[in-house]
Formats: sequence, structure tokens, C-alpha cells
Amino acid sequence: MRWYGRVENGRSRGAERLPERRGLLDRPLPEGRVASFSQTSQTAFSGGFCYSHKVKTIVQDGDLVLRKKAKPLPEELFGSAKLAQLIKDMSGALDAEPDGVALAAPQVGVSWRIFIIRKDRTLPLKPAASEVAGSGELSAKSKVLAPQVDVYINPEIVRRSRKKQETDEGCLSVRGKYGHTKRHERVTLRARRESGERVERGAGGLLAQIFEHELDHLDGILFTDHATDVVELKHTDEHLA
Ligand SMILES: [Zn+2]
Repeated sequence: MRWYGRVENGRSRGAERLPERRGLLDRPLPEGRVASFSQTSQTAFSGGFCYSHKVKTIVQDGDLVLRKKAKPLPEELFGSAKLAQLIKDMSGALDAEPDGVALAAPQVGVSWRIFIIRKDRTLPLKPAASEVAGSGELSAKSKVLAPQVDVYINPEIVRRSRKKQETDEGCLSVRGKYGHTKRHERVTLRARRESGERVERGAGGLLAQIFEHELDHLDGILFTDHATDVVELKHTDEHLA
């Protein structure tokens, strides 16, 4: 999923282009970034993450793989080198999209029920406490937010809030288009990690929206199938072209 309100270098490109937009763009996103989370994911990459293979191209709307219902990952592939390579490919493709927050396997042409989230890109950005306090030493460290990739395999949403919220949405496979979607305020997702470990995760707001957007990909649905007020933006930016 593409979050067009994301800030690069302290400036929200989405907000610049769509001043009338609501929702995510209202989030306070000052320049200072702080790594305030703990690294719990077994698939988290260190700050030295380096993707040396050719970066996979993200499949675009019109390709049939995006319309297929993806198959569950077979049991024997948990913990396998094949799965590790796929996750590496997906991470590399997502890493190359600065405003991408999540990616599903069909978006790199693989019809399995897997998606990844760049957790570090979904966190609220706030000034480091050390910056507020005026201490220089810690602030240099706090500005480096290491890529953190969470992997969800064979996911299912097991609970949804009754209430929905209107959200702003974009997709790395539907370039240049943005619109409003209605997503559940809260969802609970059950899934497995790369090793096969089972996880259950409750989420609200942006994370709940990401879960629903990515689950849709695994069922062959694109956000433009149900979005309203879809606008197409012409970009000169190399990342959004
Ligand atoms: Zn998408």
C-alpha cells in the first residue's frame, strides 16, 4: 500500500498536491524521527540492510496475477530458502518505493498469501526526546530509523470493528491514483511468520487499513474497485512516475 501522506525530508508530498485531502494528512509529522519501538520481529533487518540483487519490478494494474485469488503458502515452505528469497525480493521492491508501507506477494508476481509491512514507515514521526531536551549525542542516533519488515503469511482477519472510517489510500500497483476508501476502524489479524510461528495482532487506524488493503490483494481486489473520489495525479517525481 502507498501512503501518500508520508513525509520525506519533513515535507508531505501528498499534502502539497492534495491540500483538500483529509485523514492521514492531518497527522502531525514533524521532521525529527525517533526509533521509539522495540525490534521484536524476527525478520527485522539491521540498519546495514543491503539489497544486492536486481530489484523486482512491482506488477501494475492490468496484470492478471493481481486479479487471482492467491494460494496459501504450503506447509513445507515455512522456514525454507525459497520463502526467504521471496521475502528478500519483496523487501527490496518495497525499499525502492519511499512512500510504500506494505506489499503483497502478487505485486511481485507470486500468487501466495503473503504480505510484508515496513513497520518503520507506519510509525508516527515525532521529535526525539533528546532533541527536545537539547542533548546532541542521542539525537544523531535517533534520526536513523532502521528498515523493519514484518511478514504475514496465510493471514486472515478474525475480528472487525462494527465502525468504519473513511481513509485516504493509494497502491504501488495502481500508480498515480489515489482515493477514499472505507475501512474498519479496528481489525484482528491471525497469521504466521516466516518460521511458521503463529501470531495474532489487533490493529487500529493506519495498520488496520494496511491489513485490509493487503488482504484484498490476496483475494484479487484492488482499492480502486471500491474507492470513491479517485483522482489521478501526474508526477514528475522519479519514484511516482
Ligand atoms: Zn496495494
